[in-house]
Amino acid sequence: MLQYAKQFIDKFDIQSVISALKSDFLTQGPRIELFENKIKKFTGSKYAVAVNSATSALHLACLALGVKKTDIVWTSAITFVASANCALYCGADVDFVDIDPKNFNIDIFQLEKKLAIAKENKKLPKVLIVVHFAGLPCEMKSIHKLSLKYKFKIIEDASHAIGATYINQKIGSNKYSDITIFSFHPVKIITTGEGGMALTNNKKIALLIQRLRSHGIIRQLPHKKASKLFFYKQINLGYNYRMTDIQAALGLSQLKKINNFIKERNKLANNYKKLFCQNSAIVYQENFPEKTTSSYHLFVIRLKSKKFSQMQIFNFMKKNGINVNLHYIPVYLHPFYKGIGFKSGLCPESEKYFKETMTLPLYPGLKYSDQLRIFKLINAVI
Ligand SMILES: *Cc1c(COP(=O)(O)O)cnc(C)c1O
Repeated sequence: MLQYAKQFIDKFDIQSVISALKSDFLTQGPRIELFENKIKKFTGSKYAVAVNSATSALHLACLALGVKKTDIVWTSAITFVASANCALYCGADVDFVDIDPKNFNIDIFQLEKKLAIAKENKKLPKVLIVVHFAGLPCEMKSIHKLSLKYKFKIIEDASHAIGATYINQKIGSNKYSDITIFSFHPVKIITTGEGGMALTNNKKIALLIQRLRSHGIIRQLPHKKASKLFFYKQINLGYNYRMTDIQAALGLSQLKKINNFIKERNKLANNYKKLFCQNSAIVYQENFPEKTTSSYHLFVIRLKSKKFSQMQIFNFMKKNGINVNLHYIPVYLHPFYKGIGFKSGLCPESEKYFKETMTLPLYPGLKYSDQLRIFKLINAVI
């Protein structure tokens, strides 16, 4: 069975993890800071805080921006549920913005329209979480402009987009946002098994996320006076969201390969595009913002078949050993979200997208012969 995504692990990754296992530190130790520093250098961000998942990073990012009960957070309707759940963890309300039908990212015009209405109703969001879908950066300049006009903060959920560039800058530079989040889950661009990171250029935010990662505790050197002898104190209600040194060891060796990963993912995506270009019933992500490169976490195609349903094509592919996938069900259509009051019809483009798309296998190591087989199978039915 060909999977839609998978990790690439070589002997250097294995050696790196073994050396961590043989060292004095298993949980948060020197490799964490090293990994954070390398990511800072790679992205141009001033601060980086490693945590145990992107979900944790999103939660801490919301907390660090002061998201609480009575606040509203907006995100794209087409994303993984974690981009919305993080707001609910903080007791805030969440709402969804529709997608651009061509590039599958948040639709800037819909966003602007929704903001104008929200202003009238005094229901403006405190934070907007944008998602660089499949690795394609959103139009951050326009979003940033809107954030100044309507006074909201921006988190980039870049779980798909480490290694992507926007106007010649790496995603994670935070030029147009407050915080950027990466995921190191095995299906993503680089992996630490489980893991995530929060990047920011704001020192206060970085220190707060660091503290919240580990119980809200700060450590101090022993005081001169014996009566004031203490080693740590808890300042906030924090969590145990720490990454282990074993994971950071894997992250460090994976990061060395990232440029090759991105190159190969782009090459594989271009292969698909060349193969499908003569079939007008198949479309894929287009309308890239200027001077942008995608990290191609996913390759999603949109099926315009009148003869076969999406379900039939899915089953046909699976029967032929291609484990295609669907990214994503509009978040608000999940039973949990319906249970808290969301109804279908909220984001029409997202709902259309959901009924027409399919994610094809794409990962370093995928063979051209497999891509050709996938193309022939799809071409035969559409
Ligand atoms: C994978 C993913 C997450 C969650 O990442 P974890 O590291 O598994 O917590 C969040 N948002 C998006 C868009 C993702 O794809």
